[in-house]
This record gives sequence, structure tokens and C-alpha cells, in this order.
Amino acid sequence: MAAGSAIQIPSRLPLLLTHESVLLPGSTMRTSVDSPRNMQLVRSRLLKGTSLRSTIIGVIPNTSDPTSDCDDLPNLHRIGTAALAVQVVGSNWPKPHYTLLVTGLCRFQILQLLKEKPYPVAEVQQLDRLEQFTNGHKSEEELGELSEQFYKYAVQLVEMLDMSVPAVAKLRRLLDNLPREALPDILTSIIRTTNQEKLQILDAVRLEERFKMTIPLLVRQIEGLKLLQKTRKSKQDDDKRVVAIRPNRRITHGSITEDEEEEEDHDDVVMLEKKIRTSSMSEQALKVCLKEIKRLKKMPQSMPEYALTRNYLELMVELPWNKSTKDRLEIRAARIVLDNDHYAMEKLKKRVLEYLAVRQLKNNLKGPILCFVGPPGVGKTSVGRSIAKTLGREFHRIALGGVCDQSDIRGHRRTYVGSMPGRIINGLKTVGVNNPVFLLDEVDKLAKSLQGDPAAALLEVLDPEQNHSFTDHYLNVAFDLSQVLFIATANTTATIPPALLDRMEVIQVPGYTQEEKIEIAHRHLIPKQLELHGLTPQQIQIPQVTTLGIITRYTREAGVRALDRKLGAICRAVAVKVAEGQHKEAKPDRAEVGEGEDCKEHIAEDAKPESISDTADLALPPEMPILIDFHALKDILGPPLYDMEVSERLSQPGVAVGLAWTPLGGEIMFVEASRMEGEGQLTLTGQLGDVMKESAHLAISWLRSNAKRYQLTNASGSFDLLDNTDIHLHFPAGAVTKDGPSAGVTIVTCLASLFSGRLVCSDVAMTGEITLRGLVLPVGGIKDKVLAAHRAGLKRIILPERNEKDLEEIAAHVRQELTFVLAGRLEQVLNAAFDGGFAAKATLEHLNSKL
Ligand code: ADP
Repeated sequence: MAAGSAIQIPSRLPLLLTHESVLLPGSTMRTSVDSPRNMQLVRSRLLKGTSLRSTIIGVIPNTSDPTSDCDDLPNLHRIGTAALAVQVVGSNWPKPHYTLLVTGLCRFQILQLLKEKPYPVAEVQQLDRLEQFTNGHKSEEELGELSEQFYKYAVQLVEMLDMSVPAVAKLRRLLDNLPREALPDILTSIIRTTNQEKLQILDAVRLEERFKMTIPLLVRQIEGLKLLQKTRKSKQDDDKRVVAIRPNRRITHGSITEDEEEEEDHDDVVMLEKKIRTSSMSEQALKVCLKEIKRLKKMPQSMPEYALTRNYLELMVELPWNKSTKDRLEIRAARIVLDNDHYAMEKLKKRVLEYLAVRQLKNNLKGPILCFVGPPGVGKTSVGRSIAKTLGREFHRIALGGVCDQSDIRGHRRTYVGSMPGRIINGLKTVGVNNPVFLLDEVDKLAKSLQGDPAAALLEVLDPEQNHSFTDHYLNVAFDLSQVLFIATANTTATIPPALLDRMEVIQVPGYTQEEKIEIAHRHLIPKQLELHGLTPQQIQIPQVTTLGIITRYTREAGVRALDRKLGAICRAVAVKVAEGQHKEAKPDRAEVGEGEDCKEHIAEDAKPESISDTADLALPPEMPILIDFHALKDILGPPLYDMEVSERLSQPGVAVGLAWTPLGGEIMFVEASRMEGEGQLTLTGQLGDVMKESAHLAISWLRSNAKRYQLTNASGSFDLLDNTDIHLHFPAGAVTKDGPSAGVTIVTCLASLFSGRLVCSDVAMTGEITLRGLVLPVGGIKDKVLAAHRAGLKRIILPERNEKDLEEIAAHVRQELTFVLAGRLEQVLNAAFDGGFAAKATLEHLNSKL
């Protein structure tokens, strides 16, 4: 609506009474509405109204005292402003109210109050912006001088304001574009005026009167502004003088002296500059930093960029551009450190020593990155730490599991708020030297996302040809990573991106045998846990049988992490006991002497489930050392989690034990089959992958084609095994996805057992891929699988013939405890899987038929 155009308001208007301020035509006001009358008006007129007319209301300044606002309508001011409600916002807090945004249209006068409740409505008469006034006739000539004077003051006032503020510039333009008669109202509502003064302007219906009344207000404002500018100027002059002192002083001294330097220490930026100049950063980095510091000096501190730039410069100063630790590599010492820290893992230690030896001979080796691959808890991280120890280098672990954003590796550009360097640069800042050992943990768990591929960023980090000028996005200058020794760890190579895998030398770290675990526990884990819990070997004894008990009954893992946790739990329980004992000893009146007999005997015989937690024997100080036997184990760790369940589960036909490999190590896997009447369908359950499903189909096909030979029949005695029969194969645990061809032999054995009604030997486990013609093909992960079978207490293992060479990796004592059956054909597998063999009747039948 152009300010100069005529307006026609309705003759009846609902009235909004405002205490807070006076609305003048042409201006906008935000007012809070909470009195019942006004709330009612908003609800029924503005919130329900649908037409534009229904949003026009009369705003009447309420001149009565707001505190004495009562139910009765106060004496209404006769003149008000018709207004357009532009926005209504409701809120319930702290009490129900609305906030109204209204724009004044024109003046009106109340002729008659039509109703008072629920909100007042009046018959009104419009006073300005009517057709006859806007046709602009007399105003120019009669008010010419007055309006010219007014305009001059208005322009003077606006020009005193800061024109760079957009609102002021806009106001300046409005002064020229708006009709002169609209200006008094608008300027009065902009400049500093009291409500009383505004009320007077509202009441000044005649334009001439309005001009006359507004001019003094403008003059007053101009004078006020002049005064303000004067005082501000003198203050600025003072500031300038303070600033001017410094450069002068510099000039007088010529160069920076010691004294001056001390003074400047207070000045952070100067300090920073000094640090930058004295730091050993690369030339390129120095150039960037000096440029940045120049910018920083010019920036006001309140600017967000100031903090950003400062943080950046501080990081640049802190980075170890040229700081390194001295390698103290001595292969013999390295061997000792590795042997001391880790039991077993001979192959890994051998390779690590080779690697270190080459480094010793040829400094600055640009060799492949070592990548330890194996199940969790087999000591991959811990070997990495030992390598750092042997080299006398700092160690830093970078967990890459779940990293899906390449800025995690390479940093964010500095244009983002909250941008920061990537993990590599952060790690360097943390360790403070440029030649640490960085362990890139779980490289197989890098993920891709829309934010780029972190593996690609890692390629640059790991490539010895490129990493001497690695550019983090945040730093934006190259940093030399060639001195960093990177070691990676992973659970499986399957999910490592091929390009990354190509840069690394994979060293397999298999799981441990029970015996190895016992040794690791007694040599490393138990002493470590004792120290962690403040216990001594005089206070607690864990015999080897107990450790074996923990390994077999409370854990089922390839590594030793769960074992370590269980030992921790035992130490905690004992620590409570010991602390209680000390407490009682400290109080002689309660410290009754116990039986005093041999403590070991006492625990061994009496250590009933309650022995550790029973409060009844709290009266006695615990006798030292506390021996952890099976009773104590059960008491602390609860009932055993795993039982030797193999023989139980193999008590009916249609079950066989397979061996599976997972990134967590080897596992035994039961395959179950059942048959029922049906259409010859095969159902497979247990979240199987495509390869595994194919194995199942292959197995059935082979058995069907060999059914006669082995006298396998379905329920109705037919050799066509699927005739009127459905087969269901299930691979527990159903929630874990399984895939791979190695279950082939197990499925054949399981089905052969189902259809022959014979039990599979309870101590046999097997693995191997099959072909349609009945050949057994080699599979991977033999060492982990054999260890899993050994852990589960199985005695015989059927393996593909061509996997014989893998048996060499298995510890001799494990091999001794197991019998290996090497099979090249399925017939051999079946013969070994069933007690008394699984004889083929082919020749017999052949003869019969001839007869
Ligand atoms: P990973 O990185 O393979 O998941 P960790 O290196 O974190 O496993 O090892 C878990 C724990 O087991 C560590 O406390 C480590 O010291 C211990 N550990 C694993 N293997 C051995 C070993 N061969 N000798 C001594 N301690 C071991």
C-alpha cells in the first residue's frame, strides 16, 4: 500500500486498547496483548477472521493507569489509529498472551461506542488519508514553507546517522519518496519521544499543526545527536593518542631491545609472531603464518575470524615440524622387549624383528606398512606399542572404526566454523614429535559416505612417495609425514579397500590355543591385573586349573580380552575382601583372630559359593592368600557361561559339527537338518549367504545321486530323497550372517545322518568345500578353525586333503591332542564321520540287480 494512496476503513471497528505505546499512521508497532478484552478481540477477530477487512482494528491509546485496569471500560481516548494486524504470535509462558504486529493506516475518531463486551466496538469516522486530502491541492502551496523546513530537519537528522546501516540508508530514500504529509507521523515514531508527545501528534489532526509540533522534536533530536558525536569524538582522540605512543617508541629505539621484548610479552599476538619466527616450520608454512598474523593484527578481537586465525596459528606453532626423538634401535634389545611383552606369536615377532632390522641397516626405510590381521584381543595393538617402545618412539593410536568422512583424516577447510585438523595432524600435535609410531586401528572398519572416502585419504598418508608433503585441509600447507612409522590393524582383509591393502604387508595373527592362553594369563594378564588392583601374589593365588576353567567355561574367544576382563572381575572381588580385612585389622576391638589354620586349606575346602560374598564371615579377617578355586569362580563370575555341549547336541541323527571362520576367530557350528512330508522343497534358515545356499543345494544333489549307493531313503522308503519330502536345514546362531563354501562337507554329513538315521560321531568336526562330483576342496582359516575345535573339546577333525600344509602352523601340542582326517572325496568324509564308517552298498546292489 503506497503511503500516499487513499485508504477506506470500515465504519465499525473493534478497538484494541494499548498501554505500552502510541501507534501513529505509517509506523509499525509490536504490542503484547494480555488483558481479557484485547485477548478476546484477537481470538474472535484476528484468529478467526478470514477477510482482509477483518484484520483492520482500531488502536486506541489507553491513557488510564494500567494498574487500575478494571472490568469497566475506561474513558476512551477519542482519537485512535486504524491498523492492519500483520502478525499474531501466541504464547503460554509465563501466562497466556499474544504478541501483535500492527501497522498504522490512518487516524479515526470514535463517534459512538456500539458495544463494550466481550471487546469494544465503535462506530468511527476516518480523519485522514481520505480521497479529498490525498489529491494534494493546498498542501504544497500553503504548507510549502513549513513542510520544506520540516524536510530539511529530517534530512539533517538522517544524515547524522550511520549511513552504512541499511535501515538508515532506506530511511534516507523514503524521505524523498514519501509524500510530505506522511513524514511527521513516521519520524515521530522513529525518533526518541515520550508517549505523551506521540499522543499530541496523534491528536494533531490538522497537517499544519502536526508539522509545527514535530519540528521542535526533530530539532531536539538533532541537538542530542550532535552532543553525542562530540563526546564520542573526544574519546576516539584519546584512544588514538594511546595507540600512537607505541609506534613512536619503536621508532625512537630503532630496533627491538630486550626491555621492549619483555613488555611485548603481554601482547599475545606479538608473542605469537615471535613464536612463529622462532619455530622451525617449513618455509612455505612460515610464509602463510606471517601473512595470517598480519591479518590478525588488523582484525578486531570481537570478529569470529580472529579466534579462528589465532587457533590456526597456535596449532602451526605447536606442530612438531622439526622435532623428533632419536631412534635407539638395537635388534637384540628389541627381541627382548618383544619377548618380554608377549608370549607366543612367534611368526609375528619374527617378521617385526626383520622389519626393524632392515630399518636399522638402512635408515629411512620406505617399505610397506605392516598390517596385523587377526581376531580381537590377540595382541595386535599391544605389539604396536612394543614396537614403539623398542624404537624409543612416541606411540599414538588412531581408531578408524566407523570413520566415514574423509575430513576425519584430512581435516576440514578453515572456512567452516568449527573446522579442525584431521586425526593425523592432531595425533602429531598430541605426541609433539614428527617421528612417532601411529597405529591405525581397525582399517577394515572404514566406511564410505557422502562426505568422501576416508580410505582414499589414507592412501595419501601411507604412500611413502606422497606422504612427505601431506596437506591437511585445515593446515593448507604440506607437512612431512615420511618419518612417521605407520602400523595398521584389522580383523579381516576382506573389507579393506584393495588399493589400501596393496600398500600394506599383511601379517596374520591367529588366535591362541588354550595352553597359550594359560601362559599369557600367568605371565602377563594376572600380574597386570594384580598391579592394577593393588594386590600382591601374597594376597591372591589363581592356579592354572582355575585359569583353564575360566578359558573353557567363561570365555569363548580367539584372543584373551574376555579372559583379561574375567581376571579383572576376580581381582576386584578379592580386593574388596582384602580391603575389608585391612579395615578390620585397623580396628582391634573387632579384629577377632580367625582359626589361624592354613589358609589355602580353609579356602579350598570351605570355599562354598558364599565364601567370597557371605557377610556372615565378615567378622573374620580373610586369610591370605585367597585361593581362587572353582567354587570361588562360580561365586564371583556366576554359573559357567559355556558347557561342553557337543555330545549332547549330537544325540540324534541330522546334526553335524562344522568349523567356521569369522573375523573374531574360528568357531564351531552345528548344522541341523530335519525332514517332513512335502513337495520336495529345501528350506534354509540361519541368515545364510548365497555361497552357503549353493553349498546346500550341491550337497542335496550329490546325496540324491548317491542315494542308492548308500541305501539312503526318505520316509516312504524311496531312493528319491525329495519325493514327498521337504528338507529343512538350519545353521544356529540364527542372528549371525554366515557365508562361504566351507560348510559343504558338514551339510552332506548332516543330511547323510538324517537319511540314514545314524548318529554322527560326537567328537568329530569338519570343514571343506564340495563339488557336484563329490570332491573335497581346500578352504581357508584352518588354524583358527582347528583351535576352535580344540577349544570346544573335539578330538577328530576332517579337513580337505590339500589343506595338509596348513597344519604345520598349529602348535605341536595341539596337534598331538587331535586326530586329523584328510579327505579328498566325500566318501572319505562320511567314512570318518560315522562310527564304523559309512559303507557304500553299490557293488552289492549291482549284483542283486543282475541276478
Ligand atoms: P587387539 O589389538 O588384537 O584387539 P590388544 O592388543 O588390545 O588386542 O590385546 C588385548 C590384551 O591382551 C592386551 O592387554 C594385551 O597385552 C594382551 N595380550 C594379547 N596377546 C598377548 C600375548 N601374546 N602376550 C601377552 N599379552 C597379550
